[in-house]
Amino acid sequence: MKSKVFFVGPDVGGVSTLFDALDTSFIKPKSTICVKLHWGEKGNKYFVSPSFVARIVEKIREKGARAFLTDTTTLYHGQRRNGVDSIILAHEHGFSYETVGAPVVIGDGILGMDTVDYRVNLKHFKSVRLASVLSNADGFVVVSHFKGHVGLGVGGALKNISMGFASRSQKQAMHADVEPRFVSPDRCTGCGVCVRNCPTGSIKIEGGKAKFDYSSCIGCGECIALCPESALRILWETDAEAFQEKVAETASVVYNVIRGRVIFFNFLLSVMPFCDCMPKDGEPIVPDIGILASSDPVALDWASAELVNSGSAGTDRISAANPGIPWWIHIEYAEKLGVGTRDYEIIELEGKIGRGYRLQRDRAWSPRTEIS
Ligand code: SF4
Ligand code: SF4
Repeated sequence: MKSKVFFVGPDVGGVSTLFDALDTSFIKPKSTICVKLHWGEKGNKYFVSPSFVARIVEKIREKGARAFLTDTTTLYHGQRRNGVDSIILAHEHGFSYETVGAPVVIGDGILGMDTVDYRVNLKHFKSVRLASVLSNADGFVVVSHFKGHVGLGVGGALKNISMGFASRSQKQAMHADVEPRFVSPDRCTGCGVCVRNCPTGSIKIEGGKAKFDYSSCIGCGECIALCPESALRILWETDAEAFQEKVAETASVVYNVIRGRVIFFNFLLSVMPFCDCMPKDGEPIVPDIGILASSDPVALDWASAELVNSGSAGTDRISAANPGIPWWIHIEYAEKLGVGTRDYEIIELEGKIGRGYRLQRDRAWSPRTEIS
């Protein structure tokens, strides 16, 4: 059976329309609903606007439930590495009780230590450690900014529930295969940006060049993302597929915990080539498209990717933004793990998918796709 994916244009009012179209029967009076989002790293300005989140909170409260906003602590240096600084950043970015109508709660605690271990039997993981907030809320609304990602190729609902609900140790386990290597040592100027931003102190400058200690590297990709000379490249040829699969496996465990009491929103606005963890400016891959929502995160991410890649047959704009990353694998693998289906129907509720964005079922940009 096809999954339903609903579409509205990029207006705050459309959020209410989407909310009303979804099955929100799990949001009962006096229940506690977790709104999972990413309020953007310090210096990033492309995250989902608080005005959209405020409307979602309003809809939750209309049903007599209480809402709170959440995200988890990060592996890398930045203002979201501990809970206190992260809450301050959320407020600085406009996410406070006064502006949104819900308090901010850190999903894995102030120090990132409030976690729960789930025993599983998956290809990469026998246990998955997740933020305790998953066990403590009655329902979930997952709000994702759909955009590119340096490691995963694209970040939507699946990435949000995977990395976004993972404990720090689980984040490390997912990243562990990623190793920074030089594209060419000649490009390295020895500027030290990577040294200053490495969360594990795994880099030093020797002979005017960066030198990496792979025994302590957690594969966070921070050095790769921040190198001003683009001197570093991940060895995707050997580890890209495993990383994609690990993200999908973690997402599947999260989804199995919250299945039947979750809805997902993907915002295809300011679709940047990099994720909201990146404190930098850039140009979007495509002009604003609109907002999608579904109860199926696989269908939602696949529809979002198709829309970004539509308009010109055979164009894979997602790969063009982050070359060499087989981004579709984590969505396909999540489908194989039973999280959802890529077979969807899109329902335009308010506004039309416009400006040349038309779904193209040829999927010439995705050679591994099997659905026609
Ligand atoms: S940030 Fe890039 S250029 Fe600067 S020292 Fe590190 S690898 Fe070299
Ligand atoms: S060396 Fe690079 S990838 Fe490894 S932990 Fe440090 S910043 Fe992260």
